[in-house]
Amino acid sequence: MRILLSNDDGFQAPGLIALYERLRSFADVTVIAPEHNNSAKSNSLTLNAPLYVHDAAHGPVAGFKYINGTPADCVHLALTGLLGFRPDMVVSGINNGANMGDDTIYSGTVGAAMEGFLFGIPAVAFSQVKKGWGELDAAAERAAQTVRELSAGLRPGQDPFLVNVNIPNLPAAALKRTLVTRLGRRHAAEKVFRQENPRGETMYWIGGAGVAKDGGEGTDFHATDAGHVSLTPLNVDLTQHSGLVAWRERTGLWA
Ligand code: MN
Repeated sequence: MRILLSNDDGFQAPGLIALYERLRSFADVTVIAPEHNNSAKSNSLTLNAPLYVHDAAHGPVAGFKYINGTPADCVHLALTGLLGFRPDMVVSGINNGANMGDDTIYSGTVGAAMEGFLFGIPAVAFSQVKKGWGELDAAAERAAQTVRELSAGLRPGQDPFLVNVNIPNLPAAALKRTLVTRLGRRHAAEKVFRQENPRGETMYWIGGAGVAKDGGEGTDFHATDAGHVSLTPLNVDLTQHSGLVAWRERTGLWA
């Protein structure tokens, strides 16, 4: 089994290294990841600047390729020429922090996986619920197990899938079974942060993400709060299918 592994925290992130170490025990893993942190870059592609690919030579990242671009750039380049083969699965993560509810729209971790999915390849995004890499070993073990289980069901020619997995920061023994969930919703983000720089100019920082607004039963928030690993199958089609009839009836103009 051949896996393309990427992330959005950058090629030196502990979550990427930990997952690589687990996956390589049963798969042929190629790592192509951003040079720097690219969190919240979604599916962004770099069209106005050249991209450079470098090989990491030393330490635990030796053999990783890194690119001065976004997560989606990494997967896009890999699948359009860099790899030279079609991987069986695109895996992204493990991310430093949750990607639940509305986060998935902004997430570079999900963006990397989604790029694989758009190329017709099964793809998985992994995130730890809390930042800081607490209990990373347990998360990497569960993530690798999830990849193994998903890959066991792969059949040639079947429709690809895109799944989003969030793992609570718990020791392996406390980590409960995986539940298939829907995305919850967050409240709107916190207020913008205003500061003055040393030259007296006002600068702004985007505020933190809001707390869960819909964290009800069946959601990713609810499952991970209870210590379960959450697995949400994602769609990319943004069409509001349930609204098509109403929009046609609304005016009668566009039927
Ligand atoms: Mn990130």
